[in-house]
Formats: sequence, structure tokens, C-alpha cells
Amino acid sequence: MEKARLMLRKLGLLVVLIFFVVLLVTTAWAEPQKILSAIDANSSNCKVVSQKIFDFKELGQQEFKSSALLMEELRKLGFKVTGDLKVPADLVKDGIAKTAFRAELQGKGPGPTITIMLEYDALKNGHACGHNLIATSGLLAAAGLAQVMKETPGRILVIGTPDEERGSLGGGKIGLLEGGHFDGSDIVLITHPGDRWSVDQRLLAMKRATFVFKGKASHAAFAPHKGISALDAVILTFNGTDMLREHVRQDVRIHGIIKKGGDLVNVVPELAETEFSVRALDTATMEETYHKVVNCAKAGELATGAKLEFKEPRTSLKAPIVVPAYIKMVLEQIRAVGVPDNEIKDFTEFASSDLGSVGHAYPTVNLWFKIAAEGTPLHSDAFRDAAGSEEGWKATVVAAKVIALTAYDLLTHPDKVKAIQEKFKELKAKEGK
Ligand SMILES: [Zn+2]
Repeated sequence: MEKARLMLRKLGLLVVLIFFVVLLVTTAWAEPQKILSAIDANSSNCKVVSQKIFDFKELGQQEFKSSALLMEELRKLGFKVTGDLKVPADLVKDGIAKTAFRAELQGKGPGPTITIMLEYDALKNGHACGHNLIATSGLLAAAGLAQVMKETPGRILVIGTPDEERGSLGGGKIGLLEGGHFDGSDIVLITHPGDRWSVDQRLLAMKRATFVFKGKASHAAFAPHKGISALDAVILTFNGTDMLREHVRQDVRIHGIIKKGGDLVNVVPELAETEFSVRALDTATMEETYHKVVNCAKAGELATGAKLEFKEPRTSLKAPIVVPAYIKMVLEQIRAVGVPDNEIKDFTEFASSDLGSVGHAYPTVNLWFKIAAEGTPLHSDAFRDAAGSEEGWKATVVAAKVIALTAYDLLTHPDKVKAIQEKFKELKAKEGK
């Protein structure tokens, strides 16, 4: 009797155990499958949206139809959408914030906030950077996630960031960051079509400097001793930065142009102007080098006596803080959806983008997905054709799956979010050292 009771108790325990295992497995797997099915179900609708944005081909700050369409689609998915966002007045150029928007979908209870950024501006030759696909891969991922948010903790934020192509000097994402529209984000995701699959974030921080020198005009042959050459000060600035170049890290870029260097050869140049751009793979190194370039201009002033006029620019681009664990997480999802290894490849070139400033403020991954043959340059007509092609759309659906699954993994694992954030803070503190 005692033995039978013990057996019964053991059996009961086993049943309870099996119940929990089944529950664990189903909660771990049912939702991702739901997300993927919802993405497939929404694919044809989002393809139409992509094609419309492709045909609108609206330039930066004029993406009215594209942003209205995206906002409407997000509302249909249940997102609370706010358009016409406020940004600091001195950054508003020709109504940039008018085509920005913020959409929010609350999940079940508290949890991380995962932000997906959309871009939708075109170039003069149409969507030659494929931003129609950035917008719709993000929209499609949002459609997949919307399907499960009622049972998922946390929040999805979709931010429409206009004017990427021209926005590097203060518009686009920088205005939105300063306007507080990313506030509350824990982690950020964005995609970009390209000639490969990649998650590397090799963006250079960048700042520009304009130096104006004011000298003294005088006849160059009759009374050169009475003149002060502003052009000499510019040339000394170049000489100084050329020497500096030998003593900077390999990723540092310093490039300058002479915008004004005198009018007549027989007059000592009274006014000269030069513009420099300084870049580096981390913001601290860029700032340090920038300071040295300013010193080269000051040396030109001191040596010639031509007065230097210089004011720090209002904005600069920052470089993202790359958290390897976050990169690895997205890379695992790329492999999980079946992208072959030979299509995943790092970039060897560097560029700058306002995306870098977001990546300096929040842990951010930019997922590159392959829509064109390797070597097809962005901004070319061939790339534009790929952005409107059937093949391009197929890759966009896969990219949407990758970011939706990554977002879901983060929403349901606040511990992973916390670990990424802590590493981000630690790396930021050590930047440039
Ligand atoms: Zn682009």
C-alpha cells in the first residue's frame, strides 16, 4: 500500500514535470513560428508599399507620400503613430521633422523597448540606395511582431528617420536624437540593402571645420612687405595637417579643400578660406585629431599674422559603439533563416552616416542584406534596379525575418538586453583608449 502510494506520487511528479517541459518548449518556439507566418502573410502587401515608395522616389525632407503611407500601414497594425515630430529649431531645415514619425506598440506588461528605424529618402536617380527596402523590411518585421505582442513583454518602437542621404550635417537622425524621439529605446535595429549579408558597423565619426583667414592686401611686387597673405595661412594649415597625418592611426582620415585663395596674382591675398573633414573609427579619436587640425590652423595664424575666424560646427557624426555579443546574436539569426555562409561577408571600406550617432547613443545593429551581385555600388542605376526587383524583394522578406526574430529574442530575454547595455557602457567609457 505504502509502495503504491509512493509510485503514484512519483507518477504525479513526472506528469507535472512533463507539463512544464511541454509548456517551456511551446512558449519558446510557438511565437517565433507565428512571427514568421505573419511575415509571409504580410509580404505581398508590404511589397506593394515598397513598390509605391520606389515609384514616389522622394528626396530627403520631401518624403511626404512615403511617410504618410508607412504611418497608415503602421496604424493598421495597431501601432500608435505620431507624425510631424519636433526637433531643435536650429536643426529644422525645410521642414525635415514633417516627414519623420514615431510609432509605438505596447506588449504584455513591462519589458525592453526595441526600436526599429526606417529610412525612405531617394536620390536624384531614384531609390539607388534601396531605402524603399529599409522602410519595408522594418514594416514587415513590425507586422510579424505585431502578431505576438499581446503575449510578449516590452514594447516595439518604429522610428521613421527621413533625409539620410543629405542629413549628415544635422538633419535626419541627429535632429531626432536631439529632439528626444529615441528616448526610452533600449536597443536599436535597422537594415540596409547591399551586395552582401553583413552586420559590421564600420562607420567613421566625422566633423567638418571651415577656417577663414583675414590678411592684408597689398601690391605683390610694389609693396609685398606691407601685405599679410591669408593664403599663406591656409597653406601652412595644409602643411601642418600633412605632417600630422604621419602620426595618426590608419583609420583616421583628414581631407581638405581650398575654397578661396585670392583674386588677382599681383595682389597679396587678403581673404582665404579652407574646409577640412576629419574622420576616425571612434568618436574620441576623431575629436582629438580634430583639435590638432584646429591647432594647425592656429599655427598658420600665428606664423603669418592673418587673423583666423573659426567656429565649431553645430553638429558632427559619431561612430557606433560595437557590442560583439549583439552582432553575434544577429549573425546567428541570419544563419538560422538559411543565408549561406559564402554570402555573409565583412566590408573593408569605411563610410560615415547619421546612423553612427544613433549607434553611439544606443546599442545598434545595421543588418546589410544582399539584393545585388557583389561589387554593385550603392547609388548606381544597377543598384536602383535591384531595389525594385523581385530578387530584391525576396531578400527583403528574409531581412525582415532576421530583425523580427532578433527583436523577439531581445523582448523575451531582458537579461540579454541588460548584458548588451552594460558592455556598451563599458566600451563607450574606454573609447579611443
Ligand atoms: Zn543608404
